[in-house]
Amino acid sequence: MAAKHHAARAFLPINRQDMKTRGWEELDVLFITGDAYIDHPAFGTPLLARLLESHGYRVGIIAQPDWKNPEALKIMGRPRLFAAISAGAMDSMVNHYTAAKKIRRNDAYTPGAVAGKRPNRAVIAYTAAVKGAFKGLPTVIGGIEASLRRIAHYDYWDDKVRRSILVDSKADLLLYGMAETALLEITNRLNSGEQLPSLIDIRGTAYLSNSVPEKAVELPAFEKVINNPDAYNLAFKLAGTQDNPFSPTTLAQPHDKRYLVVNPPALPLSETELDGVYALPFTRQPHPHYKETIPAYEQIRHSLTSHRGCFGGCSFCAITHHQGKTIQSRSQESILKEIDQLVAQPDFHGTISDIGGPTANMYGLGCGNPQAQKNCHRPSCLFPAVCPNLRTNDDMAVELLDKVRRRPEIKHVFISSGIRYDLLPFQQHYFDALVQHHISGLLKVAPESTSDRVTDVMRKPGAKVFTEFLDEFRRRNREHGLRQAIVPYLISAHPGCTLNDMVDVALYLKRHDLRVEQVQDFTPTPGSLSTCIYHTGKDPVTGQPIYVPRTAKEKRLQKALLLYHLPEVRQDILEALKVCGRVEAAKELLGAETKQGRGNAKQNRPPRRPKKKQVR
Ligand code: SF4
Repeated sequence: MAAKHHAARAFLPINRQDMKTRGWEELDVLFITGDAYIDHPAFGTPLLARLLESHGYRVGIIAQPDWKNPEALKIMGRPRLFAAISAGAMDSMVNHYTAAKKIRRNDAYTPGAVAGKRPNRAVIAYTAAVKGAFKGLPTVIGGIEASLRRIAHYDYWDDKVRRSILVDSKADLLLYGMAETALLEITNRLNSGEQLPSLIDIRGTAYLSNSVPEKAVELPAFEKVINNPDAYNLAFKLAGTQDNPFSPTTLAQPHDKRYLVVNPPALPLSETELDGVYALPFTRQPHPHYKETIPAYEQIRHSLTSHRGCFGGCSFCAITHHQGKTIQSRSQESILKEIDQLVAQPDFHGTISDIGGPTANMYGLGCGNPQAQKNCHRPSCLFPAVCPNLRTNDDMAVELLDKVRRRPEIKHVFISSGIRYDLLPFQQHYFDALVQHHISGLLKVAPESTSDRVTDVMRKPGAKVFTEFLDEFRRRNREHGLRQAIVPYLISAHPGCTLNDMVDVALYLKRHDLRVEQVQDFTPTPGSLSTCIYHTGKDPVTGQPIYVPRTAKEKRLQKALLLYHLPEVRQDILEALKVCGRVEAAKELLGAETKQGRGNAKQNRPPRRPKKKQVR
């Protein structure tokens, strides 16, 4: 019991007893989150709470409170400065519902994966609960849900355009993107006696105002975009002008009689600042009062984050919007120090499951031309072709992996974060290290489609680049006597993808001996370009109409084509081919498959070769 109590003391307070142990009568900042409390830098709320703690603030966390009971919010009393509210690591609607709008039965961020521990639209529900519990207390919302719903946005689950979540939640301030600098500035300024109405000049925040700031880019009003797809597309396009933190732009969008004002994004953290964040005293464990395992923690407990940001700019992905296009890399020393902590964990048995970030092979990369970067409004440094200004040198990543492999306590280091294979031609040493040392047998890669018409909409490299990668991957495996396979990840029913395109994709998979394990149905998540196209049926930049698969039947047939090797989808495939007038493809697509029965990704492996895989 004493040991358990001691273990709990290493965590941030979650109740009055913890506060008493630290000699605190009140908190300065109360954090509310929709996830369980896992004291690990992979989770936003604990990371920000630890940051404020390191600056001398008294912070506590209420994780997954009963939002219908005001007493649940009062367990640590009224905080002195404000409440910081987040839905957790995922948007609560994405967390709760599948692409087919069916309720999910589990939640990876909850002990025992139990569903239902957070409300729908958690930011709105938690803010209302805090306001009910503490009248007049300033409320600050942040995290993915608040960040990606900051302007008027299409909501797939309501099938309508919703107001900014700042308006709907009635919170005082919204933090978007990675929030360290903004949250610290808010805390410092409130602590020094400033009042909320003066906090209107902080990067990475949004607020409501009665007037438009000078030089702000004005977006079409909520009342206009709600029923007008062209106005919605214009608002989306104009909002994109704010993506570059080095050329600051302020946005304003009328909502009824007020304006939502979005300040320029926060500047990326320097290497020293990011190292500082990862040096905070995390226990790297879920809070000891949890009895059951938390799947999201199991997934990252032996992994390391080497960097933030992604310059890929995939149109369906939220990361660029949230973490930004600028790669912020930790120093090797900082990562190696974290490895010291990891190897000291009693549950560590020599395998690091991942060293990566949103895209593993972007560690240490970035724009090599600061002047061009300042004026750059390309959403992707890779699409439609790799920008000549991009630094693609793989030295830093290769050196880091090499140093980690040399540690005697480490038997395996895997890369399980996604990789951008269109970068690998510039990263020959990284490619070689990846193939030789860092794949646990199957490499997951995400071409998402092999139809160029569709990959153009997705802002992904097309079939040619993927095929070159596939051939090179297989060649390198043969060269090293390895039998590692590719598991391709593909999205069905993405905007731009017709049934005919999907027949081509299925034929590509068949011709290249690839089988998909799981198909991801396109989900129009808040704030992405793909969601904008899903809603309006047009590219917001070019104004060109784009086909959007919408019916349940077409979605089913598209998915079946990706799973061409499974006997149970045979009828759907025949129907899809008939609809497209391509019945002649049935022989090639279905010929041998139904006799073979159920396939799996292991069958993507090349034939066995005599030489064994070396660990180093
Ligand atoms: S100039 Fe090129 S490399 Fe630099 S940020 Fe823009 S697209 Fe990326």
